[in-house]
Amino acid sequence: MKTSKKIVLKLPHGLVNQPVVYKLAKDYRLEFNILKAYITPKEEGLLILEITGNKDDCDKGIEYLITCGVDVQLVSHEIKRIEEKCTHCGLCVGLCPTGALYVNIKSRKVDFIGEKCTACGMCVKACPVQAMEGNF
Ligand code: SF4
Ligand code: SF4
Repeated sequence: MKTSKKIVLKLPHGLVNQPVVYKLAKDYRLEFNILKAYITPKEEGLLILEITGNKDDCDKGIEYLITCGVDVQLVSHEIKRIEEKCTHCGLCVGLCPTGALYVNIKSRKVDFIGEKCTACGMCVKACPVQAMEGNF
């Protein structure tokens, strides 16, 4: 039976140009859909993938990625910001690994780009007024 998993891959600098994701299809028969892909300010590759295949192949594919040195997280939640609560204190900006939270230079307020968020949860833990919420 086929299963689908949404995963976040953090590829260290040296792996960014390696065909590790391609091998998921070639060696583990997984279909994958790239939902988001970008390079972080630390020059790591960040990918959010939906992989589909039989459970064994999914597990083996994930194991393969980990063996290659890829940091793999399962995504099972989503993050949203409660605008009225945010005081734009900026505490979360330095913690966000993907730049999803950043200071808008024009407005001098903290903006949130949901498409860049990998739901790591760092901001949820750090926000002093609980403006960031996740359905963990
Ligand atoms: S830590 Fe919370 S209150 Fe401060 S800018 Fe971030 S979301 Fe807004
Ligand atoms: S959960 Fe918060 S800290 Fe993590 S990527 Fe999303 S916005 Fe950034």
